[in-house]
Amino acid sequence: MGKNADFMSENTERTIGKDAQRNNILAAKLVAEVVKTTLGPKGMDKMLVSPLNEITVTNDGVTILSEMQIEHPAAKMMVEIAKTQEKEVGDGTTTSVMIAGKLLENAEKLLDRKIHPTVIVKGYRIAQRKAHEILDEVSLKIAPDNYEILKEIAMTAMTGKGAEEEREKFSEILINAVKIVSEGGKVDTEDIKIEKVVGEGIKDTELVKGIIIGKEKISNDMPKNILNAKILLIDFPLEIKSPEIETKISISSHSELQNFLDEEEKSIKNMIQKIVLTGANVVFCQKGIDDFAKYLLSKSEIYACRRVAKSDMDKISKATGGRIISNLNEISAEGMGETEEVEEIKESGEKMTYLKGCKNPKSITILIHGGTTHVVDEIERALLDGLLDIISSLETGLVVPGGGAIEMEIAKRLRDFGRTLKGREQLAIEEYANSLEFIPVTLAENAGIDPIDVLTELKLKHDMGELNAGLNLFTNKVENVLNSRILEPSKIKSQAIDSATDVATMILRIDDVILSKPSKRGSMNNAGSMPDYMDSLV
Ligand code: ADP
Ligand code: MG
Repeated sequence: MGKNADFMSENTERTIGKDAQRNNILAAKLVAEVVKTTLGPKGMDKMLVSPLNEITVTNDGVTILSEMQIEHPAAKMMVEIAKTQEKEVGDGTTTSVMIAGKLLENAEKLLDRKIHPTVIVKGYRIAQRKAHEILDEVSLKIAPDNYEILKEIAMTAMTGKGAEEEREKFSEILINAVKIVSEGGKVDTEDIKIEKVVGEGIKDTELVKGIIIGKEKISNDMPKNILNAKILLIDFPLEIKSPEIETKISISSHSELQNFLDEEEKSIKNMIQKIVLTGANVVFCQKGIDDFAKYLLSKSEIYACRRVAKSDMDKISKATGGRIISNLNEISAEGMGETEEVEEIKESGEKMTYLKGCKNPKSITILIHGGTTHVVDEIERALLDGLLDIISSLETGLVVPGGGAIEMEIAKRLRDFGRTLKGREQLAIEEYANSLEFIPVTLAENAGIDPIDVLTELKLKHDMGELNAGLNLFTNKVENVLNSRILEPSKIKSQAIDSATDVATMILRIDDVILSKPSKRGSMNNAGSMPDYMDSLV
């Protein structure tokens, strides 16, 4: 370990051969171990505390891994696949990380039997291709307007999350939202605005027509509601010295100071006058609005919000047809947004701004209620899982039975296929099949059911041709889960197969880790020793 070539600097550490491989595999396995207990409806949550003491309580694989301060290079690669899965599908992050971890763990067994990594990699790649074929064969085609099935898919996605109790209602909200915004079977998630408010219970979560933003008007003197709103969207500050830029002025006399202040006032007056002249009665500003500008706006009976998030500005723009203006000279009556009404509302004691009767009738907001910020954040993650699963299913029109059924069927057919091959790759294909079975095993384990019994029963049923046999965690029985309507988008599985195989084979190919440390004080963990965070896990 730690053998350095002469040409390498002192700050470089090198681990080669078996050591590097085993160490990387161990790191990857530990990452999978971390998320394992959260899998499925009976999975547990994790509480994450950031260095700044911010708390997140979640069941979501990618959230857990992103918040952990992981530094080991191979472990980081595992985190990346969770992120890829999240980006491509939006759900199935735990599944993909767990399969990758298991592929590596099982590869280790083969390495122990002196099977060369390149043979394992080749076998895994063959298995990956075959798994896709099988997935295509067994996926079920659904019609794009089969909202009953889409609702079941959203329900499965939200089972076991903070949203579980209300999953029926939430699924309906999601389906209604999708119905409103979908165009030719396509849904842009950007079109569904999610706003969170702390207070009342999660059952008060609702789908609202129009746009709600979590901003109140900046002055009590401004009107509470505006009918026939003419909306200006501004992304520069309505103040003289923008806080982003520090300026220094040197003033030597009292009159100079007065002059300077007068100039400042004049320029703000100018700005506001330009706004008033357009006939606007609502202003959303992405930056700050200073006190003097605020005073002038209220005097002109204009409703104004400041520091509106960029994402909200974009949504308001789309909903109202208004253009976002980034230069004072561009202010004009043209390009203003329009809605029937803009109103300040109070939700659970929080003041918000509600844009009703938007020009674009597809503008909608899901308003999440919940007791604490941690609750509403976790509900948002669950709703997004449900929403993205609906969208993935719509996109491909393909769904598969959950509860481990699809993994069992792919494993079974992979084994049958492996037996037809010659050579040592066959062993890798067998291990690939074993890795997929880790999903139903963990679903059972997390629910406190004997995993061996479940696996045996599942194997038996699949061998007898019951391809939809899975573990139903509502009844705790192995049964036809298609009939029990435990459904998932096929895309979750195809992406998980790809991301897990990619990372596993990549890690397997590495036999040399060369780590350059940033400095002597650098805290990077080297590949030859375990990162700190892992000490607590082993
Ligand atoms: P991921 O991050 O991989 O999506 P989840 O915690 O969301 O992880 O768990 C998903 C797994 O839970 C899938 O394998 C899915 O089939 C399974 N699952 C969901 N609902 C049920 C249920 N009622 N019974 C059994 N398994 C279920
Ligand atoms: Mg999920």
